[in-house]
This record gives sequence, structure tokens and C-alpha cells, in this order.
Amino acid sequence: MKITAIRTRVWEWTGKTVPPSANFCTNAMDALYDRGDAMGSFRFHGWMTCEIETDAGLVGIGNAALAPRIAKSIIDTYMAPLVVGQDPWDYEYIWQRLYRSSHAWGRKGVGMVAISAIDIAIWDILGKAAGQPVFKLLGGRTKEKIPVYASKLYSAPIEEMQREAQSYVDQGFSMFKMRFGWGPKDGPQGMRENVDRVAAIREVIGDDTDLMLECYMGWNLDYTKRMLPLLAPFRPRWLEEPVIADDIAGYAELNATGLIPISGGEHEFTLFGFKQLLDAKAVGVIQYDTNRVGGITAAQKINALAEAYQVPVVPHAGQMHNYHLTMANLNCPISEFFPVHDVEVGNELFYYIFDGDPEPEAGFIDLSDTVPGLGLTISDRYLDDFTIIE
Ligand SMILES: [Mg+2]
Repeated sequence: MKITAIRTRVWEWTGKTVPPSANFCTNAMDALYDRGDAMGSFRFHGWMTCEIETDAGLVGIGNAALAPRIAKSIIDTYMAPLVVGQDPWDYEYIWQRLYRSSHAWGRKGVGMVAISAIDIAIWDILGKAAGQPVFKLLGGRTKEKIPVYASKLYSAPIEEMQREAQSYVDQGFSMFKMRFGWGPKDGPQGMRENVDRVAAIREVIGDDTDLMLECYMGWNLDYTKRMLPLLAPFRPRWLEEPVIADDIAGYAELNATGLIPISGGEHEFTLFGFKQLLDAKAVGVIQYDTNRVGGITAAQKINALAEAYQVPVVPHAGQMHNYHLTMANLNCPISEFFPVHDVEVGNELFYYIFDGDPEPEAGFIDLSDTVPGLGLTISDRYLDDFTIIE
């Protein structure tokens, strides 16, 4: 089998969006004095699809959510010529070819995002060629079903957040993730706003449930050290990305307190990046994002490494590529699930581009044993709400 063509498209959402309210989610831009719309640079209302065609008539679908116009340009001008003509079963060779040939300017960031999109599409082809779901090529079924956590609960007035949490309880979820709205610039009053919301959510979800806390890089080492003892009594399962991705020593110092497991890796790349995190004991939970980290090929290597360190892996985001990896790895205990809703930060955009995502039932999702590949198709339901760049 030979790859014959790569088609990339950028999907830019022009439909209705939910405007962000103040203090709905901390982020790395909060540290700057320009207080405008700090979250603006972390919303993404564009997506890239990457369809790889073969001479066997099979088409694999990959995607990327970060800097989609740049990722498209990298694939079109640089990477496609290195991939066309190759046998998709030589996925490791193809991955190394792209990684090593882009090494001077790639390695991390959008160069790796482009490789990830290609790699995911190749795995979709392999599943379709084998007539098997991708998880069957990665290790098979390690779980009857995948437990998923409801991941939204952006910071808002307390009663509003409690109503939202109750709706997830009513749907049968027993694991929840909430976002913080206040950080270092907001002082002791902001600390109290944060703690009050954690207490309020705990009140709704009860004690025998898992609660995850998300900082999205909007705190710093000093602030987090002061917050940990205030949050620990609520027994969170983890505290996510408290500091920026490059502050590995900061992660390690926080994780070493043992007060709350620190999670991260959503903005880290490749096996080498995760070896650094693991060697430093920087995280208690790994959360690579498959469509940034180097695709399924890189994710599987990180899964093996993390298993040897006995650090669980919970890939960032829902999405089929993450579900397949989670299903196939015993060391991936649960998956993130973004509730389907109107377009807000952009996490939810893939529901508007693709068909095939499983719907959770009572806090679990399942994958079909018979649908080959990743199980996604590109939808035509919302074409009028996108500008599509070929
Ligand atoms: Mg996160």
C-alpha cells in the first residue's frame, strides 16, 4: 500500500459562539499587565483536518487543533512530499523521517502538531486496512468500558456552577473537572473565591466522587504552594497545569509536597519531553495531547515509559484517538470527556466537524469492536457555519 495524496483543510468557525465571562479560566497570559481578553490567545475556533489517501482506496483522517493555518502550511509545503509514496505500515519510519527532517525548526510546538495530524491519519488507515478498530492494533481491549470525567465547569457564579455540576451528576457522572477563575494577581480575595467554588462543587458531587482542578498554566510556583494546603482538604484527584509548561522544576517541587498529585503534559511533546517530566518526578498524572505530542506513534511510546514509572496517563481531551489509546493501555485508567455544547473555548468544536464520537452513558463510553480505524467521519451537518480553507 502506498500513500498517494494528503489533503489538508482548515475549518474556521463562523457560527454562534458563547462569549467568555470575566474570571472564567486562568491562563498563562494572566501574568502580564495587559488585562484585556487574556484568554483570547487560548481560544481556538479553527481546526485542521488531514486526510491521507492511498492506492488501496483507503482514506485516513487526522486532525490538529493548534495553529491550524500554520500546521496546514507545514504539511502542504514541507511534510506531504516526504510522506507521499510511502507505505503507511512503515509508520515509525515515516514518523522519524518527519521528525528528523524538521529537527532544526520542529521538535516541539506546531511542527510536532503537523506530524501528529499525519500520524493519526496513518493509524486510521492501518485500522481500516486491517479491518480492526485502532485500539485492537495498540493492545486491544483492557477495559469493559472507559470511565470518563465531565470536563467543563468553567469558573462562574457559584449557584451557576452548582447547577452545572448537578446536571453532570444527574447524567450519571462520578468524576468532574472544574476550572479556576482567579490567580496570583487577584490576591487573598481571589484565593477565597477559588476555594469557595471548590467547596461548593464538592457539596454538590459528594465525597465519594473524583474532583479534578484545572489551572491551565495561570498560576505560578509561589501562588500554588500557598493554594495547595487550602485545596487539599477537598481531596482532589489532581491539580492540573498549575505553572507554565517549561517550569519542570516548579512541577517537581509541587508534586513532591504530596498534598495533591500534580498533573501536566498537555503542552509537552514527544517521548523525550515526557522522559524529562518523569525523571524529574514532575507529575503524578501524565496528560499528553495526542494531536500535539507526536500522534499515536509517540503516545504509545510515552504510555510504555509511563507504565514503567507507574505514573498513570490520562490524555488531554476526549476525541477518538485518545479513547483508542486509553482502551488499549491498562495504565490509562480514565478519559476526559468534553460535554457537547455551544462553541465556547473551542474544545467542543470537534463535535461540529466530525461524526462518530461515542456518547457517554452513566459516566462511561465504549468503543465498537467492529468499526475499523478510529471510527470518525467528517460531518456535513454544520458546513454553513464554517469557512473552509483548502
Ligand atoms: Mg488541561
